[in-house]
Amino acid sequence: MLLPAPIQNLINALSRLPGIGPKTASRLTFFLLRAPEDLARDLAEALSGLKSGITTCQVCSNITAAGSIECEICASPARDPALICVVEEPLDVIALERTGVYTGRYHVLHGALSPIEGIGPEDLQIRQLVARLQAGGIQEVILATNPSMEGDYTAAYLRQQLQPFGVRLTRLARGLPVGGDVEYADQSTLLRALSGRQEMS
Ligand SMILES: [Zn+2]
Repeated sequence: MLLPAPIQNLINALSRLPGIGPKTASRLTFFLLRAPEDLARDLAEALSGLKSGITTCQVCSNITAAGSIECEICASPARDPALICVVEEPLDVIALERTGVYTGRYHVLHGALSPIEGIGPEDLQIRQLVARLQAGGIQEVILATNPSMEGDYTAAYLRQQLQPFGVRLTRLARGLPVGGDVEYADQSTLLRALSGRQEMS
């Protein structure tokens, strides 16, 4: 039996999300079909506002409100422009900001290198990071990618790329659980990881 197009369309769209297979996509679709009208409407509005209301900071590639060139952190004179913390995702910035001790700026890669998944340097915001170092004025880059295989691989790659600039390169200390993401680490763990960061020699 063929499903009506509106149902099949939503199943197809949801199936493209990470971690959602066709079975979960069907379950969510039929849930929405039965749910009160406002749920589907709120979801539709939130989805369409997601892209139109958000842009990326032209300096650090973090997400910021549409219409602004720089994010609040890059625009703040209180943040040390000589210190850059490189993270995989915008949520990592939020986690590190919650510690309240980091006074530098960020660079958001939007992922990690993964030869298995075919994610190469050109798929991440690496060229923009190199350009920031080329522009000068940077003293230290903290490589705060996740303590995973991809995160370590990305940090090693960046070390290689950034070493010629002669800046201090550090990696978050091993307080983070292996395989655990920066964004899920609790405040005290992140504080320890940040203060105990080690030179990448
Ligand atoms: Zn920024």
